[in-house]
Amino acid sequence: MSGPGADEGLSVQVTGLVKTYSPGAQVLRAVDGVDLDVAAGEFVALTGPSGSGKSTLLHLIGALDRPDAGTITVGSINVTALQRRRLPDYRRRVGFVFQRYHLLPALTALDNVLAPALPRRPGREQQALARELLGQVGLGGREDALPSRLSGGQQQRVAIARALFQRPGLLLADEPTGNLDQHTGQQVLSLLTQLRSERGTTILLVTHDQSVAEQADRAVQLVDGKVQERLAHDQNVAEQADRAVQLVDGRVQERLAHDSPSTSPDTDNFERVNDADGAAGWSGGAGPEAPAPGPLASRWRSS
Ligand code: ADP
Ligand code: MG
Repeated sequence: MSGPGADEGLSVQVTGLVKTYSPGAQVLRAVDGVDLDVAAGEFVALTGPSGSGKSTLLHLIGALDRPDAGTITVGSINVTALQRRRLPDYRRRVGFVFQRYHLLPALTALDNVLAPALPRRPGREQQALARELLGQVGLGGREDALPSRLSGGQQQRVAIARALFQRPGLLLADEPTGNLDQHTGQQVLSLLTQLRSERGTTILLVTHDQSVAEQADRAVQLVDGKVQERLAHDQNVAEQADRAVQLVDGRVQERLAHDSPSTSPDTDNFERVNDADGAAGWSGGAGPEAPAPGPLASRWRSS
């Protein structure tokens, strides 16, 4: 698994995924019918309010937990149909990075990176790989440091090196920058995007931070266990029509679809038009939870 040849990005297909919890009498649908497609090598940011099911979805995709319904396919593996004894093998193809690093406090940085090889004694080749990975995340020379001697950013970089040890085709990162200051968080993020471009690793990353989400190819928002329909009231909807017809001051202003985002009117303009003349503007407009308008979305797609 850790030899050359592994490491190629794995696609992710999630269909009709449901995960319920029954903490008391009532049933909580933590993941409530999620469909999600991630292409091999794509970097997707998963956003959404606290409790919206982001971690649960990540755990299901990583087979740390089992869904109640739906299917998950990663590469050619039907994860939801895997027999229990096959799960450890699958999990080794997936790298996990957590907000709180989850390093083993009694192990050195090097041994933490080698931890996925345990309980077997790591061979010389694996030792060399672990050292190389620590060097790649900027921690050459800190191999023998215990986590308590490392800063948060350094600990997270050890965790990333550990996640990469098995040369995973898919990296699942749950708020990996959530405990870091902005500068350190940006360093960790740059590391992930660099790894993605060098190894083609698919990345699914949960974040609360809009500036982090903007660096992904695309952002998917979860609300109450469901993928938020980002297209509603969005310029993206107009872009997918054959043409868009805009009303301004009660008169039709015809615009071509697929206008460049910079020339597209943004949500604020619609609201201002609406304020000035209740009859004008596009119907609806953006609600308070509305996604960012065109320019941002196109930046996600083009980055
Ligand atoms: P997020 O990561 O978006 O904050 P989570 O996936 O952690 O959301 O949680 C989604 C919902 O499921 C929350 O309401 C949470 O309280 C609930 N939940 C998560 N894990 C469990 C569990 N093991 N038992 C009961 N409820 C859970
Ligand atoms: Mg979470």
